Amino acid sequence: QDTCVMSELPERVSGARPVSDLPAHLQCSSCSKPLFNARQTPHGCRLCHACVTGLLHEVEKRPCPGHTEACTLRDRHSEEDVGGGVETEVSRATCYPDIATRREVAKLRVRCPNCDAGCSVQLEWARMDQHVQQSCDWHSLRCEQCKELILKKDMQRHTSSECRHRKETCDLCSQLVTHSEMETSHRNLQSDVCCPRFSARCPHCSERSTPMDRRGYVAHLSECPERTVECKYSHLGCGEMVSRSDLERHYRDSMDSHLELMDSKLKQAAVVPSNSAAAVPQSSVGAAAPTATTADGREVADVKRRVGSVFEQFKKLQVNVANWAHSTMELEQLADRFGGVSQLRTLLSGLDERTRNVEQLQQQVQQLQQQVQQLQQRA
Ligand SMILES: [Zn+2]
Ligand SMILES: [Zn+2]
Ligand SMILES: [Zn+2]
Ligand SMILES: [Zn+2]
Ligand SMILES: [Zn+2]
Ligand SMILES: [Zn+2]
Ligand SMILES: [Zn+2]
Ligand SMILES: [Zn+2]
Repeated sequence: QDTCVMSELPERVSGARPVSDLPAHLQCSSCSKPLFNARQTPHGCRLCHACVTGLLHEVEKRPCPGHTEACTLRDRHSEEDVGGGVETEVSRATCYPDIATRREVAKLRVRCPNCDAGCSVQLEWARMDQHVQQSCDWHSLRCEQCKELILKKDMQRHTSSECRHRKETCDLCSQLVTHSEMETSHRNLQSDVCCPRFSARCPHCSERSTPMDRRGYVAHLSECPERTVECKYSHLGCGEMVSRSDLERHYRDSMDSHLELMDSKLKQAAVVPSNSAAAVPQSSVGAAAPTATTADGREVADVKRRVGSVFEQFKKLQVNVANWAHSTMELEQLADRFGGVSQLRTLLSGLDERTRNVEQLQQQVQQLQQQVQQLQQRA
């Protein structure tokens, strides 16, 4: 619909309020507000744009929301009415633009819709949109950088000194940096985009360190006594993050829980080999694929030999690990009795290594098994 032809005012200025009292014939029959973009019902009452769009159905007829006498004469509403009957049930489709009323409303003197924000401009309604769009200082615009709504009159100040996304020049390295990033990353030793000229104390051991730049900090991290690190039993399931200076204490205090973690890991490992042995298809290790080409056959035989030898190692280690697990439990009691903590710790690291070996071997067996299967499929 051509808005000019329909004398329609832009929705943006629908919130403007008339300066003086509204004549009755320019009030909406339903809500009594100004007849903004008025429509007339078939029975002659006038509704404002908000009431038409908000209360009427597009095509389905419903009782008119207006309050004129004509709106409520229900007995006269039906379509079967013969001669002189006027419908009181209406839909958006049956209401027509009331051009005459719209022209009158367009000439009403109204306050700028931003009057609550501080604008004191009063104009004819028809000219208000131009004011709001082009010259109203209290009109809100969206800052392109931070997407916040800013009054037009404040936009200059906002973009130059308030917007958190404004660009600033770093006075150390002269780079252009977004304001919000200046603190979070450009002046932050822990950020990998930290200013190369910025220096500060280590955030972990602060008072005990001297100011350093980003490169110095990266180097310092490997020896910082307060930096938190993972417990070395994290692969067993210990989730503690401990500062380096507290590591010794953690290993001492958490001996029991570390042993329990180790124990359950070993029990798992002790269960796996029997499954794993069953999973190595004996027939596939033993039987050569007769249809394979010579090259493929050699490859298959080679992989099978490797599976066999890794599996042998694996089984031996399993026995060792089971023994270790057993002696661990005895040593734990010994350690309790003699307080042989350091001895126990040595034992722990030995066990730890073996658990890792078993895990590696398990992976190797699996990989080789897959290779065998692939080769057999090809053959
Ligand atoms: Zn036009
Ligand atoms: Zn209304
Ligand atoms: Zn009506
Ligand atoms: Zn204004
Ligand atoms: Zn902004
Ligand atoms: Zn800088
Ligand atoms: Zn430090
Ligand atoms: Zn731990």
